[in-house]
Amino acid sequence: MLSPVLEKLLILQDRDTKRLGLAAQIKAVPADVALVEQKIAAEKAAIDQARDELRHLESQKKLLETEIGSAEDKLAKYRTQQLSVKKNDEYQALGHEIATMEGQVGELEGKELEIMYAIDAAKERFNAAEKVLRENISGHESRIATLKERETNLEAELAEVTAEVAAAREPVGEPALRVYDRIAARQMPVVVPLQHGKCGGCHLKVSSEVESAARGKSADTQLATCDQCGRLVYWES
Ligand SMILES: [Zn+2]
Repeated sequence: MLSPVLEKLLILQDRDTKRLGLAAQIKAVPADVALVEQKIAAEKAAIDQARDELRHLESQKKLLETEIGSAEDKLAKYRTQQLSVKKNDEYQALGHEIATMEGQVGELEGKELEIMYAIDAAKERFNAAEKVLRENISGHESRIATLKERETNLEAELAEVTAEVAAAREPVGEPALRVYDRIAARQMPVVVPLQHGKCGGCHLKVSSEVESAARGKSADTQLATCDQCGRLVYWES
């Protein structure tokens, strides 16, 4: 038979366990929210990176266009000059310059084409990154809303259970409460059954003195404690 004080302590322990569980769940919420926020931030960062890449490529393209423009201006000038020269060697020298310039323009145009392809690829990356965020954002936001709602519910539940814990402490005598609190501060559960001579908390065998104390009628006034872990043990027939 369970003594009245142990019965009361078991009720208290049951509510305390519930209270601790709720507190742990509430404590976990901010980290869960932060995890979702990190996902959003990572998706936004991917967009920013793609946008920066795109801007960089576009400014490179502009620089190249300026270079091509001035090279073409030079080329036009040489061609005009070539029309007016009379000496053959001068004509040939200009022809050489023109060929070199044409080569340079061709090279620059090749580079420009490469950049244009790179711009297309960067645009695709940018659009893809934007699509990821657009598709996920409502899911992320509703996940955060759900977590916050859960937190509110858990807090309400915790307030209730905390009141229940206080109510469960009322009928327990001061000495038993002090023992309970001392053990609870260290480890839960506090009150455990003896099963085949073993403590239900640490699963180690208790001494025969503890076992008989737990079985004895004096269990009402003398709380038996496991000699291994210090938990309160009771006899479970
Ligand atoms: Zn034990």
